[in-house]
Amino acid sequence: MRHLFLKIRIHPVFWIVVGIGLFTGHFWEVCTIVFIVFIHECGHGISALIFGWHVESIQLLPFGGVAKVDNHVDKPAYQELIVTISGPIQHLWLPLVSYLLLNTGVWNSENHQLFLFYNKMILVFNLLPIWPLDGGKILRIILQKYLPFMKAYTWTLLLSCLQLGCLSTFVLLNFPFTLNYFVISGFILISIYRDWIERRFIFIRFLLSKWNNTVGTKKVRTRYIQGNLSIVKALHLLYKSSQSRYRIMGMSHNEINEIEERDILNAYFNGQYNGKTLNDIKNGVVT
Ligand SMILES: [Zn+2]
Repeated sequence: MRHLFLKIRIHPVFWIVVGIGLFTGHFWEVCTIVFIVFIHECGHGISALIFGWHVESIQLLPFGGVAKVDNHVDKPAYQELIVTISGPIQHLWLPLVSYLLLNTGVWNSENHQLFLFYNKMILVFNLLPIWPLDGGKILRIILQKYLPFMKAYTWTLLLSCLQLGCLSTFVLLNFPFTLNYFVISGFILISIYRDWIERRFIFIRFLLSKWNNTVGTKKVRTRYIQGNLSIVKALHLLYKSSQSRYRIMGMSHNEINEIEERDILNAYFNGQYNGKTLNDIKNGVVT
């Protein structure tokens, strides 16, 4: 825990926002939001530390916070899910803190109502199924269970864009002067764009984690497939939640060849994949 406090980083612009809050009479509002966001991010950070993940920092940004932890790609899905929901779950006990402060007379019922309002707002906003909010991460974890890794990741980003577009249109039509919302959604859009650009790099990290078997999944998913499928396309069919086993029909109907995902990964990381197919692995042309 002490280790975690050493990792707290405060963005310089954050102090400007606190200063503006102080001069415009919104100091308690700013303090309330910062406190709630801080506890939320600590929730992610503590559960990541429990699983032995590397926690780079807990950052307090001008418009929110972020717990920078290890990349999700090479972590088991159940750990990803627990680390993700450990943030939103903090909002369930936080109202108790406000009740206690109310009873001790540290603050009044107006502060208390404000605390409950922001606590609920931050929880609901974080659970929107938009990447990289917690709801978006949960969406990706669910999609990853049923779709190949790359497809799940691509769909998460596309659905996030669509949902952000719908939400922004709604806000624009109903609350056109909500500046905070548009600043935050701008940050979200930049984040989605950056992850879209980097998705090939993420995919290679995923393949590497599969090759090193760091996810450690034992479930095997078997499927029949054409032997002339390219190795590159076969890599895009790999799941995070299971190991893939491809069955290729031979010349005669009772001849079936099996190719494990490790054979395909070996071909890729040995640099023997360009223009090659699963038949080449089956026939020993690539090893
Ligand atoms: Zn969170």
